[in-house]
Amino acid sequence: MNLKAYSDLIEECKSKNITLVAVSKTKPVEDILALYNLGQRDFGENYVQELIEKEEQLPKDIRWHFIGHLQSNKIKQIISFVHLIHGVDSLKLLKEINKQSEKINKTTNCLLQIHIAQEETKFGLDENELNEIIRQFDNSTIKNVNIVGLMGMASFTNDKNQITKEFQYLKSLQLKLKTENFKLQTLSIGMTADYKIAIEEGSTMIRIGSLIFGERN
Ligand SMILES: *Cc1c(COP(=O)(O)O)cnc(C)c1O
Repeated sequence: MNLKAYSDLIEECKSKNITLVAVSKTKPVEDILALYNLGQRDFGENYVQELIEKEEQLPKDIRWHFIGHLQSNKIKQIISFVHLIHGVDSLKLLKEINKQSEKINKTTNCLLQIHIAQEETKFGLDENELNEIIRQFDNSTIKNVNIVGLMGMASFTNDKNQITKEFQYLKSLQLKLKTENFKLQTLSIGMTADYKIAIEEGSTMIRIGSLIFGERN
């Protein structure tokens, strides 16, 4: 682990009012605890099974962020404790999160994931799909979900201009939608390779894994 990098990051985040999500996927609970003992509470995981196992073993005041691609049939396994679901990219998923939340009398905070990268493989909504979801959400019975912001992953490239453009595009969507009924305060952008650009472009939440925990296998 790189605790120096962590303390630099957390300083910067505090001074800029940014939430640092420590992405602990594939890393052992000992590493999470080490960071927890330094005061870190927001952790991100990508896989349902791994998240469940870690949640059982770790302190209950951890705020677990689900940042992977969530399948509808797995929502009920994490709904009771998940703090924020970052990767919502369909109305179907949103409705299922709502249904499972309603059952346990909870309101679940979600981010809509927008496709901003050039690669075909990355998940996420395009602008039309985003508008459609917002429209349906707006006047419907989805009461146990709060859409609190947007999330995106930039292209895997060294081209800083390209990354900047993609983050700016996401920011522009956030601003457009802010004028309506929604308060999309959260902009979840920035990973190890591109968080500096993300912060310049208005990130309110960065998701950092390898810089803190070391490379994953
Ligand atoms: C793994 C992952 C991260 C963290 O990536 P690093 O490059 O290790 O910082 C952030 N966001 C998502 C969605 C991820 O899957």
